[in-house]
Amino acid sequence: MLRDLLIDKKLFENIHEKVLNEGNEELIKRKSLERAVLKKLRKKRSLKKYKKNGIAKSDLKEIIELADIASLELFGGPSDYQIVNEHPEWCSHCGTCCRESSPIFIHKDEINPILTFKPDLKTEIVQNVDYEEHFMFKEDLPCKFHNLEAKRCKIYDVRPQVCKTYPLVLMGEDNPYYVIDLRHKCDYIIHLVLEKSVILFDEALRRLENSKL
Ligand code: SF4
Ligand code: SF4
Repeated sequence: MLRDLLIDKKLFENIHEKVLNEGNEELIKRKSLERAVLKKLRKKRSLKKYKKNGIAKSDLKEIIELADIASLELFGGPSDYQIVNEHPEWCSHCGTCCRESSPIFIHKDEINPILTFKPDLKTEIVQNVDYEEHFMFKEDLPCKFHNLEAKRCKIYDVRPQVCKTYPLVLMGEDNPYYVIDLRHKCDYIIHLVLEKSVILFDEALRRLENSKL
């Protein structure tokens, strides 16, 4: 398997197990995302010329799965955060994230800066339903501040941190880390996983060639 050239099986299984905890609905979304990436990757990397080396469609699928769940930092590459920061053009401004996210998390430390710049938001922010010491917008699904026609945020300069880092989501309390949100309808995410897949695929091929020398 091509992926075995990149990552130790046990380490991959550990990462995978962590992701599998997400539940069935998330897994279905993840598979949809991976299918969307596979479609684009096959346009970039034709398998025909690799077939003679025993590389199959299943190899591409496995590489995409790895790109989806693991950071390139594991292979000495950039973090997901660095990659998305360098490619704001991947966002098609479809607005799906603003229409379909709930609740929109606001960290308690964000309240003062937000209200200093926009005091009238005070009536729009309520206690978070899941994390009592934090906050959220009163109206979401869609977010009240999404301008549907202009496809832009009406409070862009003071939008919460979760909106700034989307499509990455911060997880873990003691040692927080970014994971890719599971939205398969987000072009930004499809591009990100595609970019990582191409890097990993080329690196795996390089290692395969070297192993034959
Ligand atoms: S981040 Fe994704 S879902 Fe949100 S507007 Fe951009 S492309 Fe659409
Ligand atoms: S605050 Fe702005 S960026 Fe955040 S969900 Fe609402 S419209 Fe989107």
